[in-house]
Amino acid sequence: MKLLVVGGAGYIGSHTVRQLRRSGHEVVVLDNLSSGHREALPEDVTLVQQDLLDAEGVKATLQAHEPDAVIHFAALIEVGESMRAPARYYRNNVVGSLNLLQAIVETRKIPLVFSSTAAVYGTTDAVPIPENAPMQPESVYGETKLMTERMIHAFHTAHGLPYVILRYFNVCGAAPEGDIGEAHANKTHLIELAALTALGQREKMMIFGDDYPTPDGTCIRDYVHVQDLADAHVLAVEALHSGKTQAATYNVGLGHGFSVREVLDAVDAVTGKPLTRELAPRRAGDPPRLVADATRIVKDLGFKPRFTDLQEIVQTAWTWHKSHPHDFRR
Ligand code: UDP
Repeated sequence: MKLLVVGGAGYIGSHTVRQLRRSGHEVVVLDNLSSGHREALPEDVTLVQQDLLDAEGVKATLQAHEPDAVIHFAALIEVGESMRAPARYYRNNVVGSLNLLQAIVETRKIPLVFSSTAAVYGTTDAVPIPENAPMQPESVYGETKLMTERMIHAFHTAHGLPYVILRYFNVCGAAPEGDIGEAHANKTHLIELAALTALGQREKMMIFGDDYPTPDGTCIRDYVHVQDLADAHVLAVEALHSGKTQAATYNVGLGHGFSVREVLDAVDAVTGKPLTRELAPRRAGDPPRLVADATRIVKDLGFKPRFTDLQEIVQTAWTWHKSHPHDFRR
């Protein structure tokens, strides 16, 4: 298959590009490089530097490269920033996705795999969370993902667009080779922050609350390894291509979670030097427990995560950060 990977130069996109090529597929990347990195892509992958807000340009790219399917990762992803700059998020994530959908149905009518997020559920009491849980996103970011999901449904109904929506839980880790990994300009994720703290770039790790109703009092999250998530995209796009799937939405997670303390213990064990920890107030909007009910993707697509051991997950992140302490800036 030939795939157009939109947002393919980012964290999850670049790992997916690698897995697609390992599975024998041809890849063209469309990315505006606002947060992605050319260095995260194999040298021989064609990169079309383009913005989804350039509707005519996107259409021309689809016509020029004639892909068999599209995987769409391109989005702004910072929850806090989305609350301060909503227009930017709605324009980039919703209008950008609308332009892509429109370009697909006007040119090639090929299947789409879309990156969504557990943030579409918002705070929920469901443990684990099934795909049919109520959707009440609490951030503009989550709202833009839900709006895009709804546009995709409408395009499926109106134009027969085949799709798979993947709702990610806490994505983490890096390619075990250590040459690509998480490289966000604004660092907020627990494992990445802990690795950078272990490298001495930060003084200490804050634990945001230890009075949650969980066994050790800290929040529990479902940490899914980026390479397993990349495999989920390969399975999704292949199921669409073979006609096995026409329209489906899947959670992607391990189906069980780890607490903040368990993650920090794993980082200590992997790096061999205990992090300084400090208790801080709860972070606004953090639900105590977010764990995927991932049975649907296991059953339908045969998803089988390889990285289920927390220390092994952390080890891959550590290998990447240690060899790239300033991300792709050598
Ligand atoms: N967390 C923490 N200290 C940090 C960063 C995160 O205690 O420096 C906690 C955070 O409150 C949450 C969990 O770690 O309970 C995972 O946070 P992250 O930002 O990685 O992902 P999120 O669940 O917000 O998507």
